Amino acid sequence: RSTHFGFQHVSEKEKEEKVYKVFENVASKYDQMNDAMSFGVHRLWKDHFMRRLSPASGTKLLDVAGGTGDIAFRFLEFLNNQGESFTKDMYPDIEDLASAEKSVEESDSMPEHFLKSSVTVCDINQAMLDVGKEKAQNMGFTSGISWIKGNAEDLPLPDNTFDAYTIAFGIRNCTHVDRVLEEAYRVIKPGGRFMCLEFSEVKNSMLSFAYDNYSFQVIPVLGQIVANDWKSYQYLVESIRQFPNQEEFAAMIKDAGFSMVTFENLTFGVAAIHSGFKL
Ligand code: SAM
Repeated sequence: RSTHFGFQHVSEKEKEEKVYKVFENVASKYDQMNDAMSFGVHRLWKDHFMRRLSPASGTKLLDVAGGTGDIAFRFLEFLNNQGESFTKDMYPDIEDLASAEKSVEESDSMPEHFLKSSVTVCDINQAMLDVGKEKAQNMGFTSGISWIKGNAEDLPLPDNTFDAYTIAFGIRNCTHVDRVLEEAYRVIKPGGRFMCLEFSEVKNSMLSFAYDNYSFQVIPVLGQIVANDWKSYQYLVESIRQFPNQEEFAAMIKDAGFSMVTFENLTFGVAAIHSGFKL
């Protein structure tokens, strides 16, 4: 079976390997590149995304393709601002979640740490996770967060586990978007929410012309200067063009079983937030 890697036709296996290489190459420069490419706007989009999610205390979040932790840190900061504080050693690791849940089912009382919020960052790329873990330490987040290596298309996690699932600028890198959505549906608890932040389609033709020129001509150059890597950034631009537009993606989310599916454009559709619930 063949698929796209940017505008190239490659086998599915090749795409997976190439995407892996892209993020392995850029991991240490990833945050700087995001700022350079988007003039810092990605930070505003991610802030807005977290406000839209507005997690309540006790939320168990799974952030897939979580990379260097941008969404996870915003989640913890959001809850810190709501008065929840993340002190050391209060949280179980993800490996303990299934057994902890079982013990909750078996006993009448809920362990205290289970009433607290937590975020699990899952990414296929160890290099990105390593940068994230180091950032977490530097930011003082030593609890409430766990990191696991895993493929969004085949999550190493039990069914009906998370109150919320987020994926930011990750799903277009996956080979089978439908499998990612199926897996999201499986691990979210009934009543839980799916939220995706991703580049999307700019509808206004004037703006879209300017945006195309910027992204095709400027981004690979920035990639070369900041990360010494033209090709990876050329791929990133091309992968944005290959991804389904707002309406098509919303239809895929519905097809995966989610209800109340909506989307919101950010910066004229340069990015969009899609949301759905597992009822
Ligand atoms: N969510 C982070 C953010 O918004 O800054 C990182 C986004 S980064 C553009 C895309 C991430 O998707 C990379 O860390 C990459 O390793 C990860 N990724 C790509 N394919 C994946 C897959 N099949 N499963 C899990 N993660 C994947």
